[in-house]
Amino acid sequence: MPETSVLDMTYDDVAARLLEIGCPRYRADQLWRAVYADLVQSYDEITTLPLDLRVQLADAVPLHVPEIVREAQSPDGATRKTVLRLADGETVEVVAMEYSDRSTACVSSQVGCAIGCPFCATGQSGFVRDLSSGEIVAQVLCVARALRARGRRLSNVVYMGMGEPLLNLDAVLASIRTLNDPRGFALGARSFTVSTAGVVPGIDRLAQEPLQVNLAVSLHAGDDALRDALVPLNRKYPLDVLLGACRRYIGKTHRRVTFEIALVAGINDQPHHARDVASRLMNLLCHVNLIPVNPLPERRDLRRSRPAAVHAFAEMLQAAGIPTTIRDSRGSEISAGCGQLRARGR
Ligand code: SAH
Ligand code: SF4
Repeated sequence: MPETSVLDMTYDDVAARLLEIGCPRYRADQLWRAVYADLVQSYDEITTLPLDLRVQLADAVPLHVPEIVREAQSPDGATRKTVLRLADGETVEVVAMEYSDRSTACVSSQVGCAIGCPFCATGQSGFVRDLSSGEIVAQVLCVARALRARGRRLSNVVYMGMGEPLLNLDAVLASIRTLNDPRGFALGARSFTVSTAGVVPGIDRLAQEPLQVNLAVSLHAGDDALRDALVPLNRKYPLDVLLGACRRYIGKTHRRVTFEIALVAGINDQPHHARDVASRLMNLLCHVNLIPVNPLPERRDLRRSRPAAVHAFAEMLQAAGIPTTIRDSRGSEISAGCGQLRARGR
């Protein structure tokens, strides 16, 4: 097992560990600020600490920053994908997206994914392992550093990269708590969005969480047979059960749930598909995002919906009173778009 990085620890863990080696609590504050406010990548950079202490800290609470293996950016520079190598040699991808009013990090929660949606590149590679909270935090810090170099601040974190966050919920919540900690990175809870293919126990757990994060559910279809094919997890948690959990979540949190629908030409983008979705979501406190699917090279049969079909779909949902937005998936030209992330080569 690789050593536990400081990025895997809570503030209290760090303070307790420092106390063990004879450091007063203010040292923990200094360290926490250096990592999460100054975004240092190694103890050498924390010049506010004496050199011998830096050496001692590097030993007691090592700071592991994953190595950047590759970077790619869209022609306008506003979307960038970074491949990071973890301590055990596995790789994950994180995407930075700059908009006029915000900058978002799209982070991975697992290496690979066990759910195996046919339109998703991550799903094709199978499940390798969960990420630790520190490995998730490290992705966010990597994006925050790159944004800072461009004079911007990170404003949102979406758990929409590789993997199923609700199947690694302990690490996901730990990463959010760390990034939310006002003594360091201080990103507001409402700036986080966790996306799920529909892991019902995870939705129920999130509903009980004091942290006010946003929930996105990848719906893709309002009919069980079709959703079984698009999201194999539907066989375990079919639509009635999934939407029951969403209703409980809304009842408990009073927060709007986002439903994501990746539209595939001829498969789930026809008027009767929109009617199925509308009948499922009517009267639910929700919002729908329609994303024309990013086609995978190995699934040429799953083509992107035509704009006319996407617009017609949106209009039908809106006519049923369901707030609906058409999203362009950023970064498809650099394989950084939704569902195009895969760990290629170590
Ligand atoms: N496993 C989680 C989060 C990661 S996937 C989930 O499925 O929600 C993030 C989002 O990208 C999901 O809404 C997913 O359905 C969508 N997605 C996956 N592959 C896609 C593709 N090829 N084109 C467009 N969206 C895709
Ligand atoms: Fe996994 Fe989400 Fe991809 Fe489905 S869409 S395979 S759940 S990462």
